[in-house]
Amino acid sequence: MEATQKEKNIKIIKDVLKQYLQEKSYRNTPERYAILEEIYNMDHHFNVDDLYFIMINKKYHVSKATIYNTIEIFLDAGLIRKHQFGEKTMSSSSYEKSYFDKQHDHLVIYKEGSDKEIEEIIEFCDPRIQGIKQSIEEAFGVKIDTHSLYFYGHKKK
Ligand SMILES: [Zn+2]
Repeated sequence: MEATQKEKNIKIIKDVLKQYLQEKSYRNTPERYAILEEIYNMDHHFNVDDLYFIMINKKYHVSKATIYNTIEIFLDAGLIRKHQFGEKTMSSSSYEKSYFDKQHDHLVIYKEGSDKEIEEIIEFCDPRIQGIKQSIEEAFGVKIDTHSLYFYGHKKK
């Protein structure tokens, strides 16, 4: 049977991780690959608790400390990116897979009557942002590597 795109992608990111661990002389533990695979099977943002419960439900014996440690490694390896969606609360960080991603930004929608409780996070991609980036690069003679943009709001009644 032919491998699906998802299976191919998982092989690619596992190779990226393997190479990263080798370069940094970090331990090549199977849990790290299992956690990476779970992340890449997800289609939404997650926090450490979400990931921890997924792993526990799948009968992996990982500690929360391992999850935290592994997330730091994946961030440094460029396999995931970090978000802080709560604007006014000390909400936990959210993460998402990033290796195959197209650039996108986020619209954070709060629950009615609240400016802390998040109802929904919408991802969007507006090509005009690319244009802004280019003109800023030209104006200041820089090369922009990353950006972060969040819009916050409520649903209209
Ligand atoms: Zn996203």
